[in-house]
Amino acid sequence: MYDIIIIGGGPAGLSAGIYASRLGKKTLLLEKLTPGGQITLSSEIENYPGVCEVKSGLELMQCWPKQAQKFGCEIKSEEAIKITPKENFFIINTHKNEYTSKATIIATGSTPKRAGFEGEEEFIGRGVSYCAVCDGFFYKDKVVAVIGGGDTALEEALYLSQIAKKVYLIHRRDKFRAAPITQKRVFATKNIEIIFNAKAKKVIGKEFVEGLLIERDNKEEILKVDGVFVFVGMKVNNELVKDLVELNSFGEVKVNLKMETSLKGLYAAGDIREDSVKQVVAAAGDGATAAINAVKFIEKEEE
Ligand code: FAD
Ligand code: NAP
Repeated sequence: MYDIIIIGGGPAGLSAGIYASRLGKKTLLLEKLTPGGQITLSSEIENYPGVCEVKSGLELMQCWPKQAQKFGCEIKSEEAIKITPKENFFIINTHKNEYTSKATIIATGSTPKRAGFEGEEEFIGRGVSYCAVCDGFFYKDKVVAVIGGGDTALEEALYLSQIAKKVYLIHRRDKFRAAPITQKRVFATKNIEIIFNAKAKKVIGKEFVEGLLIERDNKEEILKVDGVFVFVGMKVNNELVKDLVELNSFGEVKVNLKMETSLKGLYAAGDIREDSVKQVVAAAGDGATAAINAVKFIEKEEE
């Protein structure tokens, strides 16, 4: 029996792993991919306190699993598929194993949403991408389209503008929702052409993307592009807990200031929880808060 099982190895889960294991608890972290979380998709992060030089998300997260393991946190590459609450413990199933814990922290974050144009799924890996830092290199001196109007779309458009010859930034409204400082940088970048009030309709191409059909002012046009990067928000990964705890209307897990969910012994941290500001620093803070309170919970139960 583990004291604490953490599901998800992004900033929230890894921070929880560092705190829980350093507080002397037998801790297991389950991560279905490589630890690091969605920030590893980002080409740069410049707002994580104490890290002054611009780093990629991958670089920022490199040390976090090692730091957790240093204090004894076990990290396994397994996807949690079921949480079963019992009287005073949890059963957690993966495809390979069954584990038990006295407390559980869910930190499964979110995943990129699809924009919904024709050919989007079909051309993934053949010109349609959700990760500029992973795939941007392939578009050196080429033309790409970026879809979206939030922080991610604008930041990644800026990143791609340094690699590609030209970036079309396509947004469905006439106002971005990204931070003003990022908008200012985008407006000042010569090889980014902004297309407002437009919708991506269809990928043009045989084997690889050769163009994108868009609709603007009720007129259709084809942009000749070599790649399409989609950044239209994230889907909350709440599948494991959606029938166990209270959620808000966005599907985010409701928590109190201790990161306690409506189910005793189950904590939520990071992007998955209600009112998260969806930042690495906040996710890390949530992970620490959840772990410290889970430890207190276990010790109180054992008194
Ligand atoms: P995530 O990072 O999403 O991690 C969740 C982890 O859980 C993932 O590794 C996933 O594989 C794993 N998982 C999911 N389901 C299971 C399961 N069933 N079993 C096991 N593992 C599972 N924030 C900033 O502060 N600054 C930035 O500059 C910034 N830039 C960003 C750029 C991009 C492109 C993106 C996408 C996000 C950016 N963010 C930024 C936001 C930041 O990445 C998130 O707020 C943060 O990563 C949330 O951390 P998390 O641990 O809650 O979730
Ligand atoms: P987001 O803020 O939800 O923005 C999604 C964008 O995609 C919006 O502009 C939205 O349009 C558009 N969109 C949604 N569905 C669409 C569709 N089907 N077709 C076309 N466009 C569509 O998502 P995000 O940019 O990924 O950011 C997620 C969170 O992480 C945010 O809280 C953000 O602040 C944070 N983040 C922070 C940083 C940073 O601090 N540096 C960096 C990245 C992300 P509308 O505007 O019309 O809704």
